[in-house]
Amino acid sequence: MLTVEEARQRMLDTITVLPTEAVGILDSLGMVLAEDVYACENIPPFHNSAMDGFAVVAADMVDVSKARPVRLSIVETIQAGYAPTANIQRGNAARIMTGAMMPEGADAVVMKEVTESEGEQVTIFEGVDPDENVRFTGESVKQGDLVMSQGKLIRPQEIAMFASLNRSEVEVYRRPKVAVVSTGDELTPLGEPLAAGKIRDSNRYGICAQIEEAGCYPIDMGIARDDEAETEHKFRKALEGADALITSGGVSVGEFDVVKTVLSKLGEINFWRVAMKPGKPQAYGIADGKPIFGLPGNPVSSLVVFELFVRPALLKMGGHSELLRPTFKAVLEEDVSNRDGRVSFMRSVITSRDGKYYAKTTGPQGSGILHSLVLANGFIVIPAGATIAAGETVEAQLMG
Ligand code: AMP
Ligand code: MG
Repeated sequence: MLTVEEARQRMLDTITVLPTEAVGILDSLGMVLAEDVYACENIPPFHNSAMDGFAVVAADMVDVSKARPVRLSIVETIQAGYAPTANIQRGNAARIMTGAMMPEGADAVVMKEVTESEGEQVTIFEGVDPDENVRFTGESVKQGDLVMSQGKLIRPQEIAMFASLNRSEVEVYRRPKVAVVSTGDELTPLGEPLAAGKIRDSNRYGICAQIEEAGCYPIDMGIARDDEAETEHKFRKALEGADALITSGGVSVGEFDVVKTVLSKLGEINFWRVAMKPGKPQAYGIADGKPIFGLPGNPVSSLVVFELFVRPALLKMGGHSELLRPTFKAVLEEDVSNRDGRVSFMRSVITSRDGKYYAKTTGPQGSGILHSLVLANGFIVIPAGATIAAGETVEAQLMG
């Protein structure tokens, strides 16, 4: 049996990054930047006011206080979006709005709240230092600066920055298209009545959602019966239109598992037994240069194996540099024991208080009990054979 880390490393070593493409910035959310982005202009492009108030000559503001106010003449009103015309001399001020261009001669802004104005006169009750309340040309980003590097995940703030830099398109790694096929004669599509012995196909929906959450496009290819010809046809068709294929079910030691036979025909597929609970049986390999992930059929195993193996692989394909979610220590709120010879990823509720994380399991942990995941917001990792008492710490991880 392989450890989780060994299996994951072997898998990741075979994954290659997809080609890049140019996309409109609003389509780039959740994708990964494939270029270094430099500033073609200064941000902000001109000195401007950080406040609504009065642009003044700071030399007029020395020792100004409530007891010793100063009176200045208002020579201009400057609105955001317009260029000032006056040159501010000592004894004068310009009424100025937030974001409006600083007028020549002025070197500070007094906020409106400490002033009283009447007609063309303003009385100021608090002094300011030179440069106070002024935003300088290029103070956010200077022309020529490297602003964002290749490999960066694009979030809303990156999209706002592209727009600031007048970039309507950026080069990104292509989002992986990932096909999903469920296998099993017992699976019944939604909406149809359940005949004796049948169950709902939940994995396909869960996997498609996990694919989307990883920033990829799911392609739902439906259900393949436990029939070799049908399964082979579906798998080949699915692989044709996608960058990767995920199958669900049939990789264990069951009698009617045609999945293993078919996967072996498609390419170099390894059937791994990974020393983990849930999710011991898995298949992984490459066909036509595309990764194929054979997930176990048990619903919990399917979601957990995706989280620990498929997600990092898809992230790598999509150009991400951060592949794994961070782990941290959490204090156990109950006694936990794992009598198995495999590390256990127990579905848990993780909370934080007083600067510490705490974890308790979500109850019965059978690999068919999907509800254990619905109640959970993360895992705790319990080593093989370990019994850990309440109050001790364990390794924990949040999940999507
Ligand atoms: P298998 O890995 O095909 O032997 O299936 C293991 C268990 O998972 C069985 O109880 C199956 O009925 C169940 N199972 C397989 N595929 C799915 C699926 N798509 N949705 C929900 N349960 C499934
Ligand atoms: Mg099956």
